[in-house]
Amino acid sequence: MTAQRAAELFRETFGEEPEGVWSAPGRVNLIGEHTDYNGGLCLPIALPHRTYAALRRRDDGRLRMVSAQGDGLVETSLDEVGPGAPQGWAAYVAGVPWALARAGHEVGGFDVAVDGGVPLGAGLSSSAALECAVAAAVSDTGGLGLLDSTRGRADLAAACVEAENTVAQAPTGGMDQSAALLASAGHALLLDCRDHSTEQVPFDLDAHGLALLVVDTRAEHALVDGQYAERRDSCERAARELGVSTLREVPLEGLDEALSSLSGDLLRRRARHVVTEIARVEAAREALRADDFERLGELFLESHASMRDDFEISVPELDTAVTAATGAGALGARMTGGGFGGSAIALVRREDADAARAAVEKAFADRGFTAPECFVVSASDPAGRDL
Ligand code: ADP
Ligand code: MG
Repeated sequence: MTAQRAAELFRETFGEEPEGVWSAPGRVNLIGEHTDYNGGLCLPIALPHRTYAALRRRDDGRLRMVSAQGDGLVETSLDEVGPGAPQGWAAYVAGVPWALARAGHEVGGFDVAVDGGVPLGAGLSSSAALECAVAAAVSDTGGLGLLDSTRGRADLAAACVEAENTVAQAPTGGMDQSAALLASAGHALLLDCRDHSTEQVPFDLDAHGLALLVVDTRAEHALVDGQYAERRDSCERAARELGVSTLREVPLEGLDEALSSLSGDLLRRRARHVVTEIARVEAAREALRADDFERLGELFLESHASMRDDFEISVPELDTAVTAATGAGALGARMTGGGFGGSAIALVRREDADAARAAVEKAFADRGFTAPECFVVSASDPAGRDL
């Protein structure tokens, strides 16, 4: 998965040179899960894993799309794109110019060849990496200039969210696309989903002898079914019953008493996760500003327990990864992403990284789980032009 390989696939498929190659990263969220649609906070980093898009404009409105991870050429035209069309992976590509056009930008058709290095469906946001690589390419080739400013990048992110929600018809809150376009190397991106403001928070683990281990559990990751909708619905109901527009408005202080008015234990637990998780993101920002990584580790563990017990989005593979990594000396670990599979992260001393990985692999083997994929990551660059 390099820019060169995407360019090569373009040449093989379309018989000419692309205008350029653009890429965008996957992401892991350090903390702040299911907070985005509650107007809350989250703290993702961009991964070193990227998806590349080699692209050339067309002036006839056609869209021709090929991916090294797809199955052959998909063809459509801009005026055939809409809710649910095209189907499959091409929706994440075709949805982007469609959404940009709806937002008032001048966009045309294109030929594109994609090569992705973000594991698909691992909770590391290959979908946003794909959309954002295409968005970067469309912006540059169309002279939209949206990569040149934070505001423009935020507009691109919004178009990518619209593409995913409406054309690919997958519910997503917006963290993934913001991370892919707005994060920066050596930093985590504090994202305020109420006012869409962002802040770069130092996250240079190397400088502190630490590492972030990602464990792709390979467990079924099925956010698109009713689970995500139930969580979202519960949060909206809880907010309504509490008389606030979003759970962001509920203060941490006096929380138990405030939640006691909710109709039922389920709503109470769902709301408690969201409110305490937002507070943990704020605490994580303070910990990072103070270089207090022990504290960050504690917050990871508290966050995991909240997702497991109150929000009920963990699965045995994720719990096993967290327990095994912690047992092998991690400062903290938690599931990351929407839940029901996907990946976990562990904050480890660099010298403990191999032992933590081995402990996770052994724990998975002992329980008869599919072997996980483990890799160490650092906070990397956002979407941009490569060639
Ligand atoms: P995640 O974003 O966590 O990886 P999603 O289910 O949101 O999981 O997105 C995965 C989907 O995105 C894939 O099923 C596929 O349709 C599409 N996708 C992502 N990357 C690529 C790629 N490089 N080539 C083709 N399709 C891709
Ligand atoms: Mg996704």
